[in-house]
Amino acid sequence: MAQPPEELDERLWVEIESYPGRSLLAGNAHTHTGRMLAWNESVGVMAKFSKRDVVRASERAEAWIAGFLAGSEPSVLDVADAADTSLETGADREPTDADFDRWRMVVHRYAQTGTLPTIHNSPLPPLPDASLPGPQPWLESACRILVWQQGRWTVEQQFALVGGFAADSVCRQRQHHHLELVSPDYLVCTDCGFVSQIEPRGSA
Ligand SMILES: [Zn+2]
Repeated sequence: MAQPPEELDERLWVEIESYPGRSLLAGNAHTHTGRMLAWNESVGVMAKFSKRDVVRASERAEAWIAGFLAGSEPSVLDVADAADTSLETGADREPTDADFDRWRMVVHRYAQTGTLPTIHNSPLPPLPDASLPGPQPWLESACRILVWQQGRWTVEQQFALVGGFAADSVCRQRQHHHLELVSPDYLVCTDCGFVSQIEPRGSA
């Protein structure tokens, strides 16, 4: 059994899904943005968790988590880059009102769920049209849907997502995609067209 870290605060307790009893907040998990650590005494392990895994928390722990998430929000420049409508140049430009609106959506969703919405950096690499499996490829970046059509990424088509799945897709019903590697940059779902970008090594 691992040793508990020193200096944990008994007042900063959370109950985490699939862990028994209370766990004490222990800091940043340093994996995905928004992931935290808590020491679970019953099992004697350090649990990694997100806000959405928290079943109950002390008032003090709730405030700690809110502060933790606020401290790791993306900047409006990150979002402006992802939302650059040219999606080709990268965005060395001043954020617009629309960028701020989108940034507020991203930050709101992050504060609600504790999971940072995916933000793809522009420019996104092109998809290889010849090896696409069929349905129109799409992905979500900074709370907006980008669709691959006529050889470029566009934002002209928006549709409803539920838990990250297209609302009317078979993938939503069975809660997973059927991904196929189409290039060194991308996996594409053969059933709904969802695109998963393979991040370069070293990025989060
Ligand atoms: Zn799918």
